[in-house]
Amino acid sequence: MAEFSIIDRYFKRTSKVDVSLGIGDDSAIITPPPSQQLVICTDTLVAGRHFPLETSAHAIGWKSVAVNLSDIAAMGAKPHSILLALSLPHVDEAWLAEFSRGLFDCCDQFNVSLIGGDTTQSTQLTISVTALGWIDHGQAVTRSGAQTGDYICVSGQVGDAAYGLKHLGHPLQHRLDYPTPRCQLGQQLKGLASSMIDISDGLAQDLGHILKASKVGAKLQLEQLPLDPSLKQIEPRHAWQYALAGGDDYELCFTISPQNYEKLQQQQLDVPLTIIGEITQQSGLLFEYMGDIYPLHVHGYQHFA
Ligand code: ADP
Ligand code: MG
Repeated sequence: MAEFSIIDRYFKRTSKVDVSLGIGDDSAIITPPPSQQLVICTDTLVAGRHFPLETSAHAIGWKSVAVNLSDIAAMGAKPHSILLALSLPHVDEAWLAEFSRGLFDCCDQFNVSLIGGDTTQSTQLTISVTALGWIDHGQAVTRSGAQTGDYICVSGQVGDAAYGLKHLGHPLQHRLDYPTPRCQLGQQLKGLASSMIDISDGLAQDLGHILKASKVGAKLQLEQLPLDPSLKQIEPRHAWQYALAGGDDYELCFTISPQNYEKLQQQQLDVPLTIIGEITQQSGLLFEYMGDIYPLHVHGYQHFA
C-alpha cells in the first residue's frame, strides 16, 4: 500500500476544529485567535521503550496523542491540533485501522484535529506527535514560578501506571495504556497555579524540575500521596516508590498559593486534587511521614542511564 493511500484511508478526515488548510498540501495553515500565543510540543513513542511490544494498536494511538495533550495542559493552554510523524516497519492494515481509531478517539475527546504529518518506513515502529495549543498572551504556567509557602498539589492518583506496567493484566494497566491528559484542569489553573508540570517521569523527578527552575525546595507528606486501593494494600515504602518514581501517570503537579487554592475550590473540577506538601525556602526535597522526617531515596526514569 502506497504512502498516499495510507494517509487517505487512515488519517485524512474533515477537521472539527478551525483549520484554514489541513492534510493534503505541503504544510497546514491555521489562523491564530487574536491575542493568543502558540504553545507547541512534541513527544516520541518508540515500540518496546515507551510501551510494551504487545500494547494494542488502539492504545498506542490514544497514548501518542494523550502524552502530548498532557504537555499542552501543563502550560495551562487549550489544545488545538496535532501533527503525526509515523515510522512503520511494514504496512499492516489491521494495525493501522486500530491505531488511527485510538488516535482519533483521543483527538475527539479533547476536540483536537490531525492537521498533517509524515509517513515513512523504518526498522522500528516510532510515533512522533507534535501538539499545538493556544494560551492568552503571557498567561502560560511555567515551571519557574513556585513560591515559598505555596501548596504542592497533584491531580488524580500517582503510581498507577508504573504498577500497571509491573503487573500487566491488572486493571491498572488501563492507566498505563490510556492516560487521561488533564486538559480541562490545566486551563482552569491558568492565572491560579504558580508553576506546573505534567508527571511523565515520576512525581519526585518532575517536581524536582519545578524546584530547580523556581530555585526553591519542598516538603512532601508521604501519607498524603493519592494512591489507588491496590497500592494501599502493599507495603507503604513500596507504594511510595511507585508513586514517586513511577512514570507515565500524566497527572498534573502544580504549586499554588493558599488564597488561589481557595479560588480553585470554587470551580467545578473534573478530577480530584490532593495537597501533598509545601514549597520551602530551603532547597532540596524532604519527605515527612506522620509529622517526622522520613529518609527515602527515589529515582525517576532516565532515558540514557
Ligand atoms: P511532502 O512530501 O510535501 O512532505 P507528504 O507527501 O509527506 O508531503 O504528505 C502529504 C500530506 O499528507 C501532507 O499534508 C502531510 O502533512 C500529510 N501527512 C503525511 N503523513 C501523515 C500522517 N501520518 N498523518 C497525517 N497527515 C499526514
Ligand atoms: Mg511538499
